[in-house]
Amino acid sequence: NKVVGVLDLQGAVAEHLIALRNLGVNAVSVKTAEDFVGLDGLIIPGGESTAIGRLIREQGLEDVLRTFYQEEKAIFGTCAGLILCSTDKSHVTEDLRLGFIEMEVERNGFGRQIASFETYLDFSGIDRKVEAVFIRAPYIESVGPKVKVLATVDQKIVAAEQGNVLVTAHHPELTEDYAVLTYFLEKIV
Ligand code: GLN
Repeated sequence: NKVVGVLDLQGAVAEHLIALRNLGVNAVSVKTAEDFVGLDGLIIPGGESTAIGRLIREQGLEDVLRTFYQEEKAIFGTCAGLILCSTDKSHVTEDLRLGFIEMEVERNGFGRQIASFETYLDFSGIDRKVEAVFIRAPYIESVGPKVKVLATVDQKIVAAEQGNVLVTAHHPELTEDYAVLTYFLEKIV
């Protein structure tokens, strides 16, 4: 049975744990460096990227996150987690940037008017439309050469992957359409 951690500092943690358990995964809350032991994969959830970034620093989790990444364990950043995983220089301050996937992001990129919305995505690797909820979501402005784009909304990139790292601007745990979470679980070897 796969063991998947959900970084439990701030944000949509409980929803990910419930969704993963519904998928039959051994899902655990991750708050300390010790909690990383035995994990096959990690989800960095949506929430407030500034808050999560600050708490990563305060809890001293940056090194263990970087080691996890270097060991090529599967990492899934959703929404705020996407922002934190990026190499973005313009919108993400140095202390938040984990740099796991080469891309520039636009925080709250869909603007105030349509801050939150639901749509159906064409998602590369999934052979049907995926129900997707966006909440004050970022989008991906540009990606590096090793990044594969997986989905777009109005020509804005909203999902991508590079090696062991998957990111989506939407919240895959908030509907009962678990296709993207299943896609992530398949990345875990
Ligand atoms: N707007 C948030 C941020 O910039 C992300 C929103 C979310 O994770 N749902 O961090």
